[in-house]
Amino acid sequence: MPPYRPQIVPEFAVRSRIASRVAGLQPSGIRKFFELVVGRPDILSLGVGEPDFSTPWVIREQGIFSLEKGQTSYTSNQGDPHFRAVIAKWLRREMEVDYDPDTEILVTVGVSEALDLACRALLEPGDEVLIPEPCFVSYPALVELAGGVPILVPTSLENRFIPRVEDLEQLRSDRSRAVALNFPGNPTGATLTRKEMVPLVEWIIGNDLILITDEIYSPLTYEGRHASFAAFPGMKDRTILLHGLSKGWAMTGWRIGYAAAPPDICAAMTKIHQYQIMCAPIMGQMAGIEALERGDLDCAKMREEYSRRRRVMVQALNEMGLPCPLPNGAFYVFPSIRATGLSSEEFAYRLLEKASVAVVPGNAFGPSGEGHIRACYATSLHHIEEAMERMARFVKSL
Ligand code: PMP
Repeated sequence: MPPYRPQIVPEFAVRSRIASRVAGLQPSGIRKFFELVVGRPDILSLGVGEPDFSTPWVIREQGIFSLEKGQTSYTSNQGDPHFRAVIAKWLRREMEVDYDPDTEILVTVGVSEALDLACRALLEPGDEVLIPEPCFVSYPALVELAGGVPILVPTSLENRFIPRVEDLEQLRSDRSRAVALNFPGNPTGATLTRKEMVPLVEWIIGNDLILITDEIYSPLTYEGRHASFAAFPGMKDRTILLHGLSKGWAMTGWRIGYAAAPPDICAAMTKIHQYQIMCAPIMGQMAGIEALERGDLDCAKMREEYSRRRRVMVQALNEMGLPCPLPNGAFYVFPSIRATGLSSEEFAYRLLEKASVAVVPGNAFGPSGEGHIRACYATSLHHIEEAMERMARFVKSL
């Protein structure tokens, strides 16, 4: 017998092993930048977007207690029923919207999973999602992976990075299916007043669009009270509200988020979730009950501390000639670096090289981020002061 030789069909020989929709996806601009920082202890990082606090002790204790009790199994696909009831109660109190925990709430592995499920549940191939940018890097990528088309809507510092209805309208088409909003926002820290929300709400309803609203940073609203898009008359039935514990409760590693959505959309998202994930981790769900029921005081303490750091950073940036309005939410500043004559990437690379301070170039979040950098103040005051001194020296040397 002649030795076995696999037949190579020419089309397969040249085809990449990686599916084209993945191969064509741009790697995250944040990741690309942070690979340079790994293994460099000399670098002061203002780059990573996560709290520097550990999860408050009362919440951690509840996670530990759940393990001690032997709660190590799957939960219901949709999430532990008691946790869902607690989420509904919290949403009623904080967002002023009533959700039925049995049919309108799905517990997910972070907002990240909820976002993916929302896109996959909604989009037919070629459906468009309008995304104001600069935006969190996952939005365009997840829309694309779900077969949709992200349509980036530019915003600017002059308009406090709030999308204007005329810009949204100009980019709307027959294929527009949804719009994705994120207030308080990553990377700009922008928040909206109720008055500013009205024209957006009217435009969404008037054009029969679905709103995916990522309000994960709502507990980190510094002045005034967060208002949810879902609470406006006529919005609940067309809104997928995404929220989670990562930011406000310093629980990034527990991987707990949730979606609140009309029953048909919630059921569709649950169907994908049950095949893909089964359920979010039980320990995180048990700790989440404690976070939402008794975490307010700890949340408030962290918020106060972020707010103090925010003022220190904003003052330092303005003093060194980098215009930076005081952001009202999340834990990022997004100053303009245009006065330096450098591009965002040049600024970030040279700052890293010359001053050992890491920030994220603004263009990683979309074309309107060019001319800006993102710096995160979820790090100690001492660390911030040192980083600002180094940055001021660097800017002066240009
Ligand atoms: N949305 C925004 C706006 C974020 O900034 C992040 C995390 N950086 C996420 C969602 C993801 O959060 P989670 O940990 O809940 O997946």
